[in-house]
Amino acid sequence: MKNIRVTVWNEFLHETMFQEIRDIYPKGIHGCIADFLKEAGFEDIKTATLEEPQHGLTDEVLNNTDVLIWWGHMAHDRVEDSVVDKVHRRVLDGMGLIVLHSGHASKIMRKLCGTDSQLLRWREAGEKEILWVVDPSHPIVEGLPDRIEIEHEEMYGETFIIPNPDELIFISWFEGGEVFRSGFTYKRGRGKVFYFRPGHESFPTFFNEYIQKVIINAVKWAKPLNMPKVQLGEIKEPIMPIANPTLNVIEGLHNKK
Ligand code: ZN
Repeated sequence: MKNIRVTVWNEFLHETMFQEIRDIYPKGIHGCIADFLKEAGFEDIKTATLEEPQHGLTDEVLNNTDVLIWWGHMAHDRVEDSVVDKVHRRVLDGMGLIVLHSGHASKIMRKLCGTDSQLLRWREAGEKEILWVVDPSHPIVEGLPDRIEIEHEEMYGETFIIPNPDELIFISWFEGGEVFRSGFTYKRGRGKVFYFRPGHESFPTFFNEYIQKVIINAVKWAKPLNMPKVQLGEIKEPIMPIANPTLNVIEGLHNKK
């Protein structure tokens, strides 16, 4: 996995503002994610946060990122449009994007989905969540059991106003009765996008080995393919004019009008 360059982007506000969140994620959520990716064998891991210049997502960082992981919650609107546009361009050009938890409402996710806002139900009651695998053939679920149980999480519930996913991989059940499409993919341009719901900041969800496994699998899945750029209209050999029977038929039809 030396060849996958990952950047973990985190808002990094809850951890700096609230001691109880810092107690759970002393190195920030981005630090936790970077640590388990390194442990899994990824060697090129960068992190970037909101308060850095250009939110840490300079041209150099983005141009050297194969897969970008995005965690945002309370400050989506503070992300500069110019940075969102650059991330969007990179996704269309093939960079993978993994959007976590409340990132469903981030500017980049809304831009990729073509939606104005991402509506859903939510409740912060620390209830139990069970993520059921609904696509056991997908590489993102490799090595997982048929369900992931999380003792305490924030609830997100349907109806979730999103375009129909290309692939639906997880559906969550919550103790309070709601269900939610918790893991799904889109393809946008040459880029692959995976949304994964769990990861509220006040619970140690990113320390769960199965949640880590999903993110590790998703990084491998989302990496860009080594494909040449499309060269539109490039003529390799001279094209000789020939009588085209199809065109003749069409012309004949036109002449009858
Ligand atoms: Zn949350």
